[in-house]
Amino acid sequence: MDEFTLRIFRFDPEDGQEPRFDAYRVPYRDGMTVLEALFEVLDHQDGSIAFRFSCRGAVCGACAMFINGSHRLACQTQVKSLGPEVTVSPLPHLPVIRDLIVDMEPFWRKYEEIKPYLIANSEPPEKERPQDPEDRKKIDEMINCILCGACYSSCPMVWTGEDYLGPAALLKAYRFVADSRDDASEERLAVVSTEKGVWRCHTVFNCAEVCPRSINITWSLQQLKKLAVRKALF
Ligand code: SF4
Repeated sequence: MDEFTLRIFRFDPEDGQEPRFDAYRVPYRDGMTVLEALFEVLDHQDGSIAFRFSCRGAVCGACAMFINGSHRLACQTQVKSLGPEVTVSPLPHLPVIRDLIVDMEPFWRKYEEIKPYLIANSEPPEKERPQDPEDRKKIDEMINCILCGACYSSCPMVWTGEDYLGPAALLKAYRFVADSRDDASEERLAVVSTEKGVWRCHTVFNCAEVCPRSINITWSLQQLKKLAVRKALF
């Protein structure tokens, strides 16, 4: 393949025009990622396209978007795997700020609600809080979350429930509930047990399917449900 077509979603809520897709012919080179293709267009064909990126190494989550009908990280997606036509649009079900950039404010607001940091009652140590390797293994998977928002964008309960905390925030809540060094389980379970919490999850598994870190988010939400029931009963 010498070149391919890159179709990019274009929308600026402030210019009064309808959303559209613009198509560009992009020269292909071996190993090219979708993020590199976007830069090719930005640098050589159309300096007006807007997209987010940061690390370029699949660890920051900033370039999550909808590529050929799937949630993916642009920096992690090889053009070769997509064929001669590549279509990129913003993360679905989130307000578009411009082109491929969505408003992540609701995602971050809900994330903050679960207090995404360690809460320990003991005095802060001089250097760090050591953890038994076996205890650390219990949270290894959840710690891999890069907060890309793909799971949030893919969840039908997020689409229909404005208040639902969503998969990423609940995953993070379980990450701390399961952390042997954290002392705020009661407080966290009180938040996730409310109407906007885990009971809104209908185990659709979209989140687990789209996660670029292959995290089984639904499993963590199921653990939270069990703990919430136990808390209510005993
Ligand atoms: Fe992204 Fe996966 Fe974290 Fe959801 S759980 S924000 S899909 S890395």
